[in-house]
Amino acid sequence: MLEKKGEVYFMFQKPETGLYQLSNRISIDKILDRNVYAYANEASFSYFIGLNIPFEVLDHPGDVDFDLNMKTWEDLLMRDLTESWDFYPTYEAYVSLMYYFEDTFPDLAEIVKIGESVLGRDLLFAKISPQVNERRPVPQFMYTSTMHGDETAGFILSLRLIHHLLTNYGEDDAITDLMNNVEIWICPNENPDGTYRFNNSTLAGATRGNINGVDLNRNYPNPVNDPLQVQQPETTAMINFTDTMNFIMSANMHGGIELVNFPFDSWTSNQNKHADHDWWEFVMYEYVDTVHAHSPAGYMTGMGDGVTHGGDWYVIYGSRQDYFNYYKSCREFTLELSNQKLLNPALLPAHWDYNYRSLLNYIRQSTYGLHGTVYDNETGEPLLAEIYIPGHDSDNSQVYTALPHGNYNRPILEGTYDIRYSAEIHNTVTITGVDLFNYHTKNIHIALGAESSGEIFEISLSIEGEGGKVLPYSGTGYFNDGANVFLNAIPDSGYQFLKWTENGEIVMDDDEPAGEAYVFTAEADRNLVAVFQSEETDIPVHVEISDQVVTDGEDVCFSALLTITISNFAVEAGGSTRLIAGENIRLLSGTSVAAGGYLQARIAADANDYCDIPEAKEIASVVPVDSKEDIVSTDLSIEIRENGFFKIYPNPTDGMFTLELTTIKPDQNTTVEIYSMVGDRLFSEELHPQRSYELSLEHYQPGMYIIRVIKGDQVGMERVIRR
Ligand SMILES: [Zn+2]
Repeated sequence: MLEKKGEVYFMFQKPETGLYQLSNRISIDKILDRNVYAYANEASFSYFIGLNIPFEVLDHPGDVDFDLNMKTWEDLLMRDLTESWDFYPTYEAYVSLMYYFEDTFPDLAEIVKIGESVLGRDLLFAKISPQVNERRPVPQFMYTSTMHGDETAGFILSLRLIHHLLTNYGEDDAITDLMNNVEIWICPNENPDGTYRFNNSTLAGATRGNINGVDLNRNYPNPVNDPLQVQQPETTAMINFTDTMNFIMSANMHGGIELVNFPFDSWTSNQNKHADHDWWEFVMYEYVDTVHAHSPAGYMTGMGDGVTHGGDWYVIYGSRQDYFNYYKSCREFTLELSNQKLLNPALLPAHWDYNYRSLLNYIRQSTYGLHGTVYDNETGEPLLAEIYIPGHDSDNSQVYTALPHGNYNRPILEGTYDIRYSAEIHNTVTITGVDLFNYHTKNIHIALGAESSGEIFEISLSIEGEGGKVLPYSGTGYFNDGANVFLNAIPDSGYQFLKWTENGEIVMDDDEPAGEAYVFTAEADRNLVAVFQSEETDIPVHVEISDQVVTDGEDVCFSALLTITISNFAVEAGGSTRLIAGENIRLLSGTSVAAGGYLQARIAADANDYCDIPEAKEIASVVPVDSKEDIVSTDLSIEIRENGFFKIYPNPTDGMFTLELTTIKPDQNTTVEIYSMVGDRLFSEELHPQRSYELSLEHYQPGMYIIRVIKGDQVGMERVIRR
């Protein structure tokens, strides 16, 4: 047996003492009652025999007498994969199937070879992610299977999970949402030399160890006892690959018993609990409770209820689970899918049905808890940062941001936590009293570099209709007090960015409407909407005109969806100019209209009210400016904006008009000012608090005037036409 397979499977009675030391030399598979089931290679088996413990050699689990229903790639091409997954692929069929996923779903799947086994077989991951070639600011998640080559249920369940995700994207809302919010990596077989122990065309004779007889699940660096056996190529490939990733959660799949086993393996729970022990129990019972609801009685009831802390079952060193939890800040558990290690392929569809909901639920847990980005407060550049929960984290359970986006993801059981953010060269920020809830995601974005009070403000971002997205996020986020919030509105193709609005008002940044890249300081809750516009219209968003003269006989018109700004602009006698903007018209210094020239500036009534509409050429009002000399406004720019706090009617007026305030506070005086179109103040008066006032333009010439109202800290402007 040893000569042929390189390993032996045997059983002995659990000794009173010394099992820990023994587990360092032989590979304990499971302990049921007082029976220890174990594997050993030649060297470790002679060590064991030297201990004179009575033992019994068992049939090797990889030696089976049923039909393995092996399928070649040619066989698989002739079947509909969605029908049934009741087969095992040859090695070539497995590799072809992986690349078939990439070829068939090039936008969703990429096959990444992370290395080779001892014998040169491929170690393959399927990366599953919309825009698969991009690194998105979402959690990275990993499933792997069959690091024990003879434990094969997870091999097929992993392949089927890849297929299930790819074929349901865009079809099933829950799957689509899951894939949009997680980057999923699946490696169906970590030990192909063990699985295809004798040749590529059969799983018969599969072994636990790799070709060197080494148990790969005892081969990882360990905080208590480093592995005795030299690190194997399969282990090195996994370590090197995952060093380039920021996996948040993962699991590795096995067989031989039916249960879920959560960290740590290296200690009993009395000796050392994982910082998120309570979260582990929560997600582990979610896993098995869901399985139990969809499986026959008795399935996945190992260790009584199907859930065990690793070390409470039996302590081992060098496990993959402890490596990821202890060294990589990744929450990984060990999933034991079937009592029969090399599962009869006829039972694979049932095992999929028992488990697939739980497999998806567990991925989804990576989207819950505390998420966000950490960036430099001055530059907005994403930072490599540590997110640590004082009084909670231990043994490297803290998480880190991932570049290039600076995003972090921290699954955790609901509760109230203080969160500490730190990065090199930057001041540390601690946010206190953050409430987190199960099955909810809270996005806290942290700017490092400035002092922070620890307070957070809610900044909500939404998009009106369709047409674009906002980076770094949309939805509700929390920013620390004093953080510069860097927003980027990115239009979809065929659209352009129009404006930011808040409570129906256009958002201003200094004197300008805020642009696509809008930066502001978080000092209060905000509720921003990004508005995009179809590019079908020819009308630009902003128009700036300067150094232009409109001469006698010329009739020009300028339209902008948002703002028109003019400066050094002269209308000579006999010239006519119209300015029609969606939100805002600014006449800067150097604007002049000669006597006999015409300038009209107005806010568009609706989407059709622009220059290129023939009816709009009927000039509703012309502003003749009486001038003996050029009228130049030198120090005042006039803004005409729609405002929400007063109304003017009738407008146009023959002289008398009413100014009506929409709200009134008795303790606030109101100042009304009237300006000419070029910025001369004609009238200013403070009025006692009341809702409406009668004002007169009877003594002024026909034309357009600006009414400016100052009430408390509110300032609003409206234009009024004197006929
Ligand atoms: Zn195993």
